[in-house]
Amino acid sequence: MNAIILSIGDELTLGQTVDTNSAWISKELAARGCDVLGHVTVPDQQVAIAGAIASAVGNCDCLIVSGGLGPTADDLTRQALADVLNEPLEINHEWLTEMQRFFRQRGRPMPEANQIQAMIPRGATMLWNTCGTAAGIAAIGKGHSIRKPDAAAPLSFGAASRGHAGTVIFVVPGVPKEMKAMLTRDVFPDVEKRAGGAAILSRTLHTFGLGESSVAEMLGSLMNRDRNPSVGTTVSGGIVSLRLNSRFGSPALALEKLNETDAACRSKLGDLIFGADDQTLAAVVAELLTKSGGAIPTVTTAESCTGGLLAKMLTDIPGSSRYFREGFVTYANESKQRLLGVPAEMIEKFGAVSEPVAQAMAAGARRAANAVYALGITGIAGPDGGSEAKPVGMVCIALASEEGEAVRTFNFPGDREWIRDRSAKMALTMLRYKLLAKPLPF
Ligand code: ATP
Repeated sequence: MNAIILSIGDELTLGQTVDTNSAWISKELAARGCDVLGHVTVPDQQVAIAGAIASAVGNCDCLIVSGGLGPTADDLTRQALADVLNEPLEINHEWLTEMQRFFRQRGRPMPEANQIQAMIPRGATMLWNTCGTAAGIAAIGKGHSIRKPDAAAPLSFGAASRGHAGTVIFVVPGVPKEMKAMLTRDVFPDVEKRAGGAAILSRTLHTFGLGESSVAEMLGSLMNRDRNPSVGTTVSGGIVSLRLNSRFGSPALALEKLNETDAACRSKLGDLIFGADDQTLAAVVAELLTKSGGAIPTVTTAESCTGGLLAKMLTDIPGSSRYFREGFVTYANESKQRLLGVPAEMIEKFGAVSEPVAQAMAAGARRAANAVYALGITGIAGPDGGSEAKPVGMVCIALASEEGEAVRTFNFPGDREWIRDRSAKMALTMLRYKLLAKPLPF
């Protein structure tokens, strides 16, 4: 079972509105075992809409069209559909009566223009709209009987073509609330039935510390494009995530295979995988701190270039007061000395961005906050302040514990925001490995 999603509207093609409808529809279809072959967006032009419908018909099991069902001159989806089906538009009296009732209830006459909203191509089925005046439409499009408009831009889904007898076409309003209500009530149950119990289950596994190509290399043949479940990688905020998609004939089989692939990825990447789906690095650290049994170890922070970002990440987690009581933002050298006891001579000798200073910051914060762990960060976030010996992106991070102060120097690429973000995430990663009682693997 597969589908193409078509979104209609000048506001979409002009970039004024982000097409959130297609993203939502895709997720809902996948959850029901329906593969999405593509998203298409066209402006409010009858020829373009008809061309996109005609190109999809015969090349997918199901076409879901959203938008262009309003009562104004720029709402042309129903006309375009009638064009492609080669059927005239006819009044649907059930919906016309409903619209007249809708306006009567509000004490207003129904504007003449709204009559078009009760028109659907002959032979099509009207879909009830519980929160608006545009009725939806369900129709079957036969690939071999369509009349392609001459000016239609050729959109090709040829590779996906499976020789369908007919593509079921659902047209729903563009207004997200109306679209969701109509699809959920009238369309998705039908899709689910057509999918015959098939399921597409997905899971995302997150890593931090290595680049995308290094992760891909470690995964090897697990990333083969014809593999099912498939494994793909994406990067966001320095987090390299593996996207696992499992497509099988039943939810139970899809889950079993997904779990097998999950285990295979973990056996290749080990502890590099810090979490799954919505889990953040800070949430995973929180889990490790609080699940260790016995007294929950406390954490403090001594931040220079990150300006409190690490403390923010730690305290983003509900319940963080159990392990985080205070943090220090010591931007100036004088603050590092006064609040954390970093010796002035040390800063003089090694510079504020140096491993000894990061260590002294962490040790000083641990002492001042009476914490079990302390993370110290000092670096050059840029854009100015770099030198040949200490370029922008150089960041020293120390982790103080009862065993002393471990320290590492990193060279993060990117702009100021990136460098600060990666620094805070790397500090969390150092603490995570400490809590796992393992060395950093990079
Ligand atoms: P209808 O079929 O109900 O007339 P329409 O697309 O013709 O829908 P518009 O007036 O263009 O109606 O859009 C109604 C609202 O829905 C607008 O706020 C528009 O930005 C939003 N919208 C339409 N399509 C999408 C989409 N694909 N993703 C997100 N928002 C959308």
